[in-house]
This record gives sequence, C-alpha cells and structure tokens, in this order.
Amino acid sequence: MSSDQSATSHEAPVDLLVAGADLVATMDVGRREIAGGWVAVTDGRVVGIGGPGAEPRAREVLRADGCLVTPGLVNTHHHIYQNLTRSFAPALGGDLFDWLRTLYPVWSRLDEEAAYVSAWIGLAELALGGCTTTTDHLYVHPRGGGDLIGAEIAAASELGMRFHPTRGSMSLSVKDGGLPPDSVVQDDDEILADSERLVLHHHDPSHGAMVRIALAPCSPFSVTPALMRRTAELAERLDVRLHTHLAEDADEDEFCLATFGKRPIEHFEDVGWGSDRSWVAHCVFPNDDEIGRLARWGTGVAHCPSSNQLIGAGLAPIRELRDAGVPVGLGCDGSASTDCASMWVEARGALLLARLRGGPAAMRAREALEMGTLGGAACLGRTDIGHLSVGAVADLVCWPLEGIAFAGALSDPVEAWLRCGPVAARHTVVHGRPVVRDGVLVSERVDEMLGRHRAIAAAWLVAAMG
Ligand SMILES: [Zn+2]
Repeated sequence: MSSDQSATSHEAPVDLLVAGADLVATMDVGRREIAGGWVAVTDGRVVGIGGPGAEPRAREVLRADGCLVTPGLVNTHHHIYQNLTRSFAPALGGDLFDWLRTLYPVWSRLDEEAAYVSAWIGLAELALGGCTTTTDHLYVHPRGGGDLIGAEIAAASELGMRFHPTRGSMSLSVKDGGLPPDSVVQDDDEILADSERLVLHHHDPSHGAMVRIALAPCSPFSVTPALMRRTAELAERLDVRLHTHLAEDADEDEFCLATFGKRPIEHFEDVGWGSDRSWVAHCVFPNDDEIGRLARWGTGVAHCPSSNQLIGAGLAPIRELRDAGVPVGLGCDGSASTDCASMWVEARGALLLARLRGGPAAMRAREALEMGTLGGAACLGRTDIGHLSVGAVADLVCWPLEGIAFAGALSDPVEAWLRCGPVAARHTVVHGRPVVRDGVLVSERVDEMLGRHRAIAAAWLVAAMG
C-alpha cells in the first residue's frame, strides 16, 4: 500500500517511535494509509513512516496497538476563557445577544490568573480530545486586566500545546450602539498598539513554530470599519493572519444592510479583509456569489458544527464551500454555544451535519478528518502541521478503536473512528512530546488547576448572582 520511508539508516536511535498501530492515516500528499504502521520522530519532526518490520531503534516507544493514528487535530475557533462560565444558568434560554448581555459584566472580571487557569484547563481538555494545535479568540480585554494573552501563552507552553492565540478586540460599546459595556471595550489605538506588542514578543514565523499570533476584531460590527481596515493593514505590515466572526446568524444580514448598506461579506471585502491572510468563523449564510468570492480570495472558514447546532444558527454550506475551493477547518467555539471542547465531537458533527443537509453521499469520514487536519492547517497558513510526512512536525494522535464501542467495526478504521465512539485520545503527541499518555494528561497539575479554576468560576457566579 505504500513505500516505506525507513529511518533505519540513521545510526542513532530516534527520539520517539509510535509503533504497532492498526492503521496510520497519514493525510500526506498521497493520502497513504499504512496497516500496522509506525511513525518515527526526532527533534520534534517526523523522520520516518513505515509498515511492520522496518521500525528503527528508539529512545522511547509509544505503543499504538488497537489504534488509528492520525495527524493531530487543529482547532480553528475557540473562546477558551468562556469555560469559566460553561452552561451558565442565568444566561440559558435566550438568544445569542441575551447571552452576551448577561455575561459581559461577568467576564469584565477577567484577569491574568483567570486567563492562565482557563487556558490551562481548556488546552488540557483539547489535548485529551486529540487536538494538538489550537487557536483562541480572546476579545474581552477589561481595563486593568493585564496581559491576558501572555498568560494564555504561558499555559500553552507549560502543557506543550501548539498555540495560535488571536488578539481579539471590541471598540463599540453600548454608548456607541454596540452590545458590550464600556468596561470591556478599548479604543482603536490601544488595540493596535497591544496587537503589535504581542506579535513582536510572541509570533514565531518559522517551521515548527509553537506560538503564532493573529489579529482578530470580534466581528465586523463590534468594531468600527476604521479599526477593521487598520487591523488588516497592520497584519499586512507584520505578516500575520486575520480572524473574525462572519455570516454566523441570519440577523447579521439585516444588521449589516441597515448599518453599512451592504451584506456582511461585502462589508468584509470593503474593509480590506478579502484575502488569503484571513480565516473566518462560521460562515453559515454566504450566498453563491459570496462563496465564489471567498474561494477567489483564498479566505478560510472555521466550521463549528456543535456551535451551529446549539445556537440554532443553521446549516453551513460546507459542501459548496469546499467544492468551490475554500479552505475549511473545524472549530469547537466557546461556551456562547458549545460547552464541550472535543475536536472529535466537531469532526463527527461535521460529518453528520453534511449528511443531514446533503444526503449520504455528501461526506465521508475521511473528508471530515481532512477538514480537521489539513483544512485547519490551511486556515492557519501552515504547511508543517496537519499531515504525517517526513519533515512535518510530529503532532499526532493515537485513537483507541477498542472495547464495546468499537466491537464489530473491522472493515474501515477511519469510518469507524467517526461513526462509532465516542473516543478520546490514548496518546496525544505535540512536537514529538507526549502531552497525553495512556489517556491521561502528562502534567501532574490537573487537580491543582481544577481547584483554581473552580475558585474563579465560583467567585464569578457569586458576583453574577449579586
Ligand atoms: Zn466564536
């Protein structure tokens, strides 16, 4: 089925060997799938992939018996801090705007400790669910809150997760016709200066980078058109990516027509965002012409199946977007709409929603896996993640397809992976280092961090209940 790329010519043992998999689904250019396969890793990179019998010597071996091995899943949209207000009872039952109005005052308590602890727990949750690279869209920056994104990056680097935080922003408060209170919005100059500071301090453009920054006004209608334009210009100058919410809700069309005299995606284009530098969350409501424009620009889409379902947003035209050539990744979104953060759940959701909308021929599990890996990498502008090939970074997941949930699923491990389950990672490896081993987080700080998380969430709840 494949030509082995053996690493046995290396005299020295490799750093890590993932061995004995039922199947390695490489997602490489040839989409090779290797029964009984192994992956060899040195210095954080894949140095060999092959079939039974050609395994190199290794300093450390991770057994993948009974497992499907895939590239690590890439999460292209999230609001991690919202895990402090998951399933928040005072806000349940209303629409998105009600939910936001209830929670903005609660979130105005966000500080470095809360950002660090929520990121630690959120990133750990993602790792347990087979995610190796995640974005985060942090758009609440309360006055005096400190360096929130710096605190998140500290959590990611402690856990060993690959992290693309985006510098979110809101500049229109209630007094300007926006939704949030004054305490959580900033002015344009302050936002841009902090954006530039974060890029200069943390953004790493190199192959295998563990941290990259993108710029991310919350949505084209929570900031001024001027800030959208200036953000796009800054991203161009600093050569970083752009992210925002777009075409998530039917009401957004009416709002943008009334406010700007144009549809959301026209406004997006007018403020200079129609580019392969951009990827947008949701995109449930583009028309045919707009799908063509997104494809011509090369703008990516973060498809968030659980979020779309819980919030009742609608069915995103993923078949049409992909057929037109739009890069589509998957995202779990924050607790505005999704209270669990598992990229396996999102991949399965993408499969189910595509088939609900377009019938059984509309999608197979391999396409959902492709969106969760290569599609996510394309949204983030990376070619070094999302596939297992010699030279790519060693981000991979061993998914155990065993036990009662997978009994009888013998004919196609990739279809079984999404049709059976649920399943979490047995091992999650990021940059050649296990973050999850044998289904357990490698870090021994889980209980301590859960305690700190609970203390913050409880204090916020008490404050919210008055
Ligand atoms: Zn979102």
